[in-house]
Amino acid sequence: MKKVLGFDLIDGTMSVTGMADQVRTWTLTGPRSRDEDILMGPHAAVLHYGRSIFEGLKAFRMTDGQVYLFRASQNARRMREGAEAFGLIPLPEELFLQIVHETVRENIDLIPACGEGALYIRPLLMDAGQVMGLSSSGTCTIQVTVNPVGDYFAGGTGVYLYYNPAWVRTAPGMGGTIKAGGNYGLGIPRKKIAKENECAEVIYTRAGSDHIDECGAANVFLVKDKLIFTPSLRHGTILPGITRDSVIHLARHLGYTVFDSLDIPIDFQADECFLTGTAAGITPVLGWRGSDGRGHTYSSKVGPITEYLSEELSGIRDGRSPDQFGWLEEVEL
Ligand code: PLP
Repeated sequence: MKKVLGFDLIDGTMSVTGMADQVRTWTLTGPRSRDEDILMGPHAAVLHYGRSIFEGLKAFRMTDGQVYLFRASQNARRMREGAEAFGLIPLPEELFLQIVHETVRENIDLIPACGEGALYIRPLLMDAGQVMGLSSSGTCTIQVTVNPVGDYFAGGTGVYLYYNPAWVRTAPGMGGTIKAGGNYGLGIPRKKIAKENECAEVIYTRAGSDHIDECGAANVFLVKDKLIFTPSLRHGTILPGITRDSVIHLARHLGYTVFDSLDIPIDFQADECFLTGTAAGITPVLGWRGSDGRGHTYSSKVGPITEYLSEELSGIRDGRSPDQFGWLEEVEL
Protein backbone atom coordinates (compact mmCIF):
# COMPACT_ATOMS: atom_id res chain seq x y z
CA MET A 1 0.00 0.00 0.00
CA LYS A 2 1.25 3.46 -0.84
CA LYS A 3 1.84 5.60 2.17
CA VAL A 4 1.04 9.21 2.84
CA LEU A 5 2.65 11.56 5.25
CA GLY A 6 0.39 14.24 6.58
CA PHE A 7 1.48 17.30 8.49
CA ASP A 8 -0.89 19.98 9.67
CA LEU A 9 0.54 23.46 9.85
CA ILE A 10 -1.25 25.69 12.24
CA ASP A 11 -0.84 29.44 12.37
CA GLY A 12 -0.70 30.17 16.08
CA THR A 13 1.56 30.94 18.98
CA MET A 14 1.97 27.64 20.82
CA SER A 15 5.27 26.01 20.09
CA VAL A 16 5.21 22.26 19.87
CA THR A 17 8.04 21.29 17.60
CA GLY A 18 10.55 24.10 17.87
CA MET A 19 10.47 24.57 14.10
CA ALA A 20 9.09 28.08 14.26
CA ASP A 21 10.02 30.94 12.00
CA GLN A 22 9.90 34.46 13.41
CA VAL A 23 6.29 34.95 12.50
CA ARG A 24 4.43 31.85 13.47
CA THR A 25 4.71 28.37 14.84
CA TRP A 26 4.05 25.22 12.89
CA THR A 27 2.66 22.10 14.44
CA LEU A 28 3.51 18.94 12.58
CA THR A 29 1.63 15.66 12.82
CA GLY A 30 2.04 12.47 10.84
CA PRO A 31 2.59 10.10 9.20
CA ARG A 32 -0.75 8.69 8.30
CA SER A 33 -1.83 6.15 5.72
CA ARG A 34 -3.43 6.88 2.38
CA ASP A 35 -6.61 5.19 3.62
CA GLU A 36 -7.10 7.82 6.30
CA ASP A 37 -9.43 10.60 5.20
CA ILE A 38 -8.50 14.24 5.62
CA LEU A 39 -10.96 15.87 7.95
CA MET A 40 -12.33 19.23 6.93
CA GLY A 41 -15.59 21.06 7.41
CA PRO A 42 -18.16 21.86 4.71
CA HIS A 43 -16.99 25.48 4.53
CA ALA A 44 -13.31 24.65 4.03
CA ALA A 45 -11.83 27.45 1.92
CA VAL A 46 -10.08 24.93 -0.34
CA LEU A 47 -13.42 23.43 -1.36
CA HIS A 48 -15.19 26.70 -2.13
CA TYR A 49 -12.46 28.97 -3.41
CA GLY A 50 -9.87 26.51 -4.72
CA ARG A 51 -7.33 27.63 -2.12
CA SER A 52 -4.58 25.11 -2.84
CA ILE A 53 -1.20 25.03 -4.50
CA PHE A 54 0.89 21.97 -5.14
CA GLU A 55 4.32 20.80 -6.26
CA GLY A 56 5.74 17.81 -8.08
CA LEU A 57 9.29 16.50 -7.67
CA LYS A 58 11.13 13.21 -7.82
CA ALA A 59 13.53 11.10 -5.72
CA PHE A 60 15.93 8.79 -7.55
CA ARG A 61 17.92 5.80 -6.29
CA MET A 62 21.52 5.63 -7.51
CA THR A 63 23.66 2.55 -8.24
CA ASP A 64 25.16 2.68 -4.72
CA GLY A 65 21.67 2.72 -3.14
CA GLN A 66 21.85 6.41 -2.14
CA VAL A 67 18.69 8.43 -2.71
CA TYR A 68 18.69 11.91 -4.23
CA LEU A 69 16.06 14.57 -4.88
CA PHE A 70 16.30 16.55 -8.11
CA ARG A 71 16.41 20.33 -7.42
CA ALA A 72 14.01 20.09 -4.46
CA SER A 73 15.06 23.52 -3.19
CA GLN A 74 13.57 25.01 -6.38
CA ASN A 75 10.23 23.38 -5.57
CA ALA A 76 10.49 24.76 -2.03
CA ARG A 77 11.04 28.25 -3.40
CA ARG A 78 8.25 27.98 -5.97
CA MET A 79 5.79 26.79 -3.33
CA ARG A 80 6.73 29.61 -0.95
CA GLU A 81 6.41 32.22 -3.69
CA GLY A 82 3.12 30.70 -4.84
CA ALA A 83 1.76 30.73 -1.30
CA GLU A 84 2.73 34.40 -0.89
CA ALA A 85 1.01 35.36 -4.15
CA PHE A 86 -2.02 33.24 -3.37
CA GLY A 87 -2.53 34.50 0.16
CA LEU A 88 -1.78 31.11 1.70
CA ILE A 89 0.53 30.87 4.69
CA PRO A 90 3.98 30.58 3.06
CA LEU A 91 5.70 27.40 4.09
CA PRO A 92 9.33 28.14 5.06
CA GLU A 93 11.61 26.53 2.48
CA GLU A 94 13.62 24.60 5.11
CA LEU A 95 10.39 23.15 6.46
CA PHE A 96 9.26 22.13 2.97
CA LEU A 97 12.57 20.33 2.49
CA GLN A 98 12.42 18.72 5.93
CA ILE A 99 8.93 17.33 5.29
CA VAL A 100 9.85 16.09 1.82
CA HIS A 101 13.01 14.39 3.11
CA GLU A 102 11.04 12.78 5.95
CA THR A 103 8.38 11.59 3.54
CA VAL A 104 10.96 9.99 1.29
CA ARG A 105 12.62 8.26 4.24
CA GLU A 106 9.25 7.02 5.47
CA ASN A 107 8.49 5.54 2.02
CA ILE A 108 11.99 4.33 1.23
CA ASP A 109 10.80 0.85 0.28
CA LEU A 110 8.70 2.34 -2.54
CA ILE A 111 11.62 3.93 -4.41
CA PRO A 112 12.35 1.91 -7.57
CA ALA A 113 15.82 0.46 -8.15
CA CYS A 114 18.39 2.55 -10.00
CA GLY A 115 17.40 3.05 -13.63
CA GLU A 116 13.92 1.58 -13.11
CA GLY A 117 12.04 4.73 -12.18
CA ALA A 118 11.64 7.26 -9.40
CA LEU A 119 9.45 8.21 -6.49
CA TYR A 120 7.11 11.01 -7.56
CA ILE A 121 6.45 13.34 -4.63
CA ARG A 122 3.38 15.56 -4.47
CA PRO A 123 3.30 18.27 -1.74
CA LEU A 124 -0.08 20.00 -1.47
CA LEU A 125 -0.57 23.20 0.55
CA MET A 126 -4.15 24.20 1.23
CA ASP A 127 -6.39 26.35 3.35
CA ALA A 128 -8.63 23.65 4.79
CA GLY A 129 -10.00 25.86 7.55
CA GLN A 130 -13.62 26.97 7.43
CA VAL A 131 -14.45 30.46 6.29
CA MET A 132 -17.40 32.18 4.64
CA GLY A 133 -16.46 34.91 2.19
CA LEU A 134 -13.27 35.78 0.44
CA SER A 135 -10.70 35.66 3.19
CA SER A 136 -8.13 33.33 4.65
CA SER A 137 -9.22 30.98 7.45
CA GLY A 138 -5.81 31.71 9.00
CA THR A 139 -4.72 28.07 8.93
CA CYS A 140 -2.88 26.03 6.40
CA THR A 141 -2.31 22.32 5.89
CA ILE A 142 0.45 20.62 3.97
CA GLN A 143 0.34 16.99 2.98
CA VAL A 144 2.93 15.12 0.99
CA THR A 145 1.95 12.03 -0.96
CA VAL A 146 4.17 9.75 -3.01
CA ASN A 147 3.79 7.43 -5.96
CA PRO A 148 6.47 5.22 -7.55
CA VAL A 149 6.72 5.78 -11.31
CA GLY A 150 8.48 3.81 -14.02
CA ASP A 151 11.45 4.92 -16.09
CA TYR A 152 10.51 5.91 -19.59
CA PHE A 153 11.44 8.21 -22.42
CA ALA A 154 8.12 9.99 -22.16
CA GLY A 155 6.12 10.09 -25.34
CA GLY A 156 8.37 7.35 -26.74
CA THR A 157 8.25 7.86 -30.47
CA GLY A 158 6.64 11.29 -30.13
CA VAL A 159 3.20 12.80 -29.55
CA TYR A 160 0.87 15.28 -31.24
CA LEU A 161 -0.59 18.33 -29.46
CA TYR A 162 -4.12 19.68 -29.81
CA TYR A 163 -4.66 23.40 -30.41
CA ASN A 164 -7.93 25.26 -30.00
CA PRO A 165 -7.37 29.03 -30.47
CA ALA A 166 -10.39 29.77 -28.26
CA TRP A 167 -8.82 28.13 -25.20
CA VAL A 168 -6.41 29.87 -22.86
CA ARG A 169 -4.91 28.40 -19.70
CA THR A 170 -4.55 31.67 -17.82
CA ALA A 171 -4.06 35.29 -18.90
CA PRO A 172 -1.67 38.05 -17.79
CA GLY A 173 -2.48 38.88 -14.17
CA MET A 174 -4.28 35.59 -13.54
CA GLY A 175 -1.59 33.65 -11.72
CA GLY A 176 -0.41 31.32 -14.47
CA THR A 177 2.99 31.25 -12.79
CA ILE A 178 1.50 29.62 -9.70
CA LYS A 179 0.96 25.88 -9.44
CA ALA A 180 -2.54 26.47 -8.11
CA GLY A 181 -5.12 23.68 -8.21
CA GLY A 182 -7.61 26.07 -9.81
CA ASN A 183 -5.38 26.54 -12.86
CA TYR A 184 -5.88 22.89 -13.85
CA GLY A 185 -9.63 22.24 -13.66
CA LEU A 186 -10.48 23.32 -17.22
CA GLY A 187 -7.56 21.31 -18.54
CA ILE A 188 -9.30 18.03 -17.68
CA PRO A 189 -12.19 18.12 -20.21
CA ARG A 190 -9.88 19.78 -22.74
CA LYS A 191 -7.29 17.01 -22.45
CA LYS A 192 -10.12 14.53 -23.03
CA ILE A 193 -10.96 16.33 -26.28
CA ALA A 194 -7.26 16.29 -27.22
CA LYS A 195 -7.17 12.52 -26.69
CA GLU A 196 -10.31 12.06 -28.79
CA ASN A 197 -8.34 13.79 -31.57
CA GLU A 198 -5.36 11.46 -31.05
CA CYS A 199 -3.31 14.13 -29.34
CA ALA A 200 -1.57 13.65 -26.01
CA GLU A 201 -1.86 17.19 -24.66
CA VAL A 202 -3.38 20.61 -25.26
CA ILE A 203 -1.07 23.42 -26.40
CA TYR A 204 -2.18 26.90 -25.37
CA THR A 205 -1.45 30.31 -26.82
CA ARG A 206 -1.51 33.48 -24.73
CA ALA A 207 -4.89 35.20 -24.41
CA GLY A 208 -5.54 37.45 -27.39
CA SER A 209 -2.45 36.33 -29.31
CA ASP A 210 -1.19 33.39 -31.35
CA HIS A 211 1.99 33.12 -29.29
CA ILE A 212 2.67 29.79 -27.62
CA ASP A 213 2.33 29.77 -23.84
CA GLU A 214 2.69 26.16 -22.73
CA CYS A 215 0.86 22.85 -22.50
CA GLY A 216 -1.62 21.76 -19.84
CA ALA A 217 1.14 20.45 -17.57
CA ALA A 218 4.44 21.03 -19.38
CA ASN A 219 6.60 23.74 -20.94
CA VAL A 220 7.29 23.86 -24.67
CA PHE A 221 10.60 23.99 -26.55
CA LEU A 222 11.18 24.32 -30.31
CA VAL A 223 14.36 23.75 -32.31
CA LYS A 224 15.06 25.47 -35.62
CA ASP A 225 18.41 25.31 -37.43
CA LYS A 226 20.02 24.01 -34.19
CA LEU A 227 18.78 27.10 -32.28
CA ILE A 228 16.53 26.40 -29.29
CA PHE A 229 13.46 28.50 -28.44
CA THR A 230 11.13 28.44 -25.43
CA PRO A 231 8.34 30.93 -24.65
CA SER A 232 9.15 33.87 -22.43
CA LEU A 233 8.14 33.96 -18.75
CA ARG A 234 7.71 37.74 -18.87
CA HIS A 235 3.95 37.77 -19.52
CA GLY A 236 3.35 35.93 -16.24
CA THR A 237 1.14 33.35 -17.94
CA ILE A 238 3.25 30.19 -17.81
CA LEU A 239 4.67 28.08 -15.04
CA PRO A 240 8.41 28.63 -14.53
CA GLY A 241 9.16 24.94 -14.89
CA ILE A 242 12.17 23.54 -13.06
CA THR A 243 12.78 21.14 -15.95
CA ARG A 244 12.51 24.13 -18.35
CA ASP A 245 15.21 25.93 -16.37
CA SER A 246 17.36 22.78 -16.25
CA VAL A 247 17.08 22.23 -20.02
CA ILE A 248 18.00 25.87 -20.72
CA HIS A 249 21.10 25.54 -18.49
CA LEU A 250 22.08 22.18 -19.88
CA ALA A 251 21.59 23.15 -23.54
CA ARG A 252 23.67 26.31 -23.10
CA HIS A 253 26.35 24.30 -21.33
CA LEU A 254 26.38 21.88 -24.29
CA GLY A 255 26.99 24.81 -26.64
CA TYR A 256 23.49 25.53 -27.97
CA THR A 257 22.04 29.01 -28.25
CA VAL A 258 18.75 29.17 -26.32
CA PHE A 259 16.25 32.01 -26.78
CA ASP A 260 14.05 32.11 -23.66
CA SER A 261 12.56 35.58 -23.88
CA LEU A 262 10.87 35.67 -27.28
CA ASP A 263 7.23 35.30 -28.32
CA ILE A 264 6.88 32.24 -30.55
CA PRO A 265 3.91 31.98 -32.95
CA ILE A 266 1.99 28.72 -32.95
CA ASP A 267 2.75 28.22 -36.66
CA PHE A 268 6.52 28.59 -36.18
CA GLN A 269 8.07 26.15 -38.67
CA ALA A 270 10.45 24.41 -36.29
CA ASP A 271 12.48 21.28 -37.04
CA GLU A 272 11.84 19.74 -33.62
CA CYS A 273 9.57 20.30 -30.66
CA PHE A 274 9.54 18.83 -27.16
CA LEU A 275 7.83 19.30 -23.80
CA THR A 276 9.50 19.48 -20.41
CA GLY A 277 8.20 18.62 -16.95
CA THR A 278 9.07 16.70 -13.81
CA ALA A 279 6.65 13.87 -14.48
CA ALA A 280 7.71 13.17 -18.04
CA GLY A 281 11.19 14.68 -18.29
CA ILE A 282 11.45 15.47 -22.00
CA THR A 283 8.56 14.45 -24.28
CA PRO A 284 9.18 14.60 -28.05
CA VAL A 285 6.44 16.29 -30.09
CA LEU A 286 5.91 15.44 -33.76
CA GLY A 287 3.37 18.18 -34.48
CA TRP A 288 0.04 19.77 -33.61
CA ARG A 289 -3.52 19.53 -34.87
CA GLY A 290 -5.88 22.51 -34.71
CA SER A 291 -9.59 22.45 -33.95
CA ASP A 292 -9.98 24.77 -36.98
CA GLY A 293 -8.38 22.31 -39.41
CA ARG A 294 -4.94 23.90 -39.25
CA GLY A 295 -1.94 21.91 -38.09
CA HIS A 296 1.75 21.31 -38.57
CA THR A 297 4.15 18.38 -38.49
CA TYR A 298 7.63 19.24 -37.22
CA SER A 299 9.19 15.88 -38.00
CA SER A 300 8.18 12.28 -38.55
CA LYS A 301 10.42 10.96 -35.78
CA VAL A 302 12.12 12.11 -32.57
CA GLY A 303 14.61 14.87 -33.41
CA PRO A 304 18.33 14.43 -32.66
CA ILE A 305 18.59 17.45 -30.34
CA THR A 306 15.49 16.33 -28.39
CA GLU A 307 17.02 12.88 -27.97
CA TYR A 308 20.43 14.24 -26.98
CA LEU A 309 19.03 16.64 -24.34
CA SER A 310 16.74 13.95 -22.96
CA GLU A 311 19.63 11.53 -22.58
CA GLU A 312 21.87 14.16 -20.95
CA LEU A 313 19.15 15.29 -18.50
CA SER A 314 18.14 11.80 -17.45
CA GLY A 315 21.84 10.91 -17.05
CA ILE A 316 22.21 13.66 -14.45
CA ARG A 317 18.87 12.85 -12.78
CA ASP A 318 19.65 9.19 -12.19
CA GLY A 319 23.37 9.58 -11.51
CA ARG A 320 24.85 8.11 -14.72
CA SER A 321 26.44 11.49 -15.55
CA PRO A 322 28.29 13.82 -13.16
CA ASP A 323 26.11 16.30 -11.28
CA GLN A 324 28.05 19.28 -12.65
CA PHE A 325 25.40 21.87 -11.72
CA GLY A 326 24.79 20.66 -8.15
CA TRP A 327 21.19 19.68 -8.89
CA LEU A 328 21.05 16.52 -6.77
CA GLU A 329 20.22 16.78 -3.07
CA GLU A 330 20.99 13.70 -0.98
CA VAL A 331 18.37 12.20 1.31
CA GLU A 332 20.07 10.93 4.44
CA LEU A 333 18.75 7.43 5.04
N1 PLP B 1 3.74 23.86 -16.85
C1 PLP B 1 2.70 23.40 -16.12
C2 PLP B 1 1.38 24.06 -16.31
C3 PLP B 1 2.88 22.37 -15.20
O1 PLP B 1 1.85 21.93 -14.47
C4 PLP B 1 4.16 21.78 -15.07
C5 PLP B 1 4.41 20.68 -14.14
O2 PLP B 1 3.55 19.99 -13.71
C6 PLP B 1 5.21 22.27 -15.85
C7 PLP B 1 4.96 23.32 -16.73
C8 PLP B 1 6.59 21.73 -15.72
O3 PLP B 1 7.16 22.16 -14.52
P1 PLP B 1 8.34 21.35 -13.82
O4 PLP B 1 9.40 21.20 -14.84
O5 PLP B 1 8.75 22.20 -12.68
O6 PLP B 1 7.77 20.03 -13.41
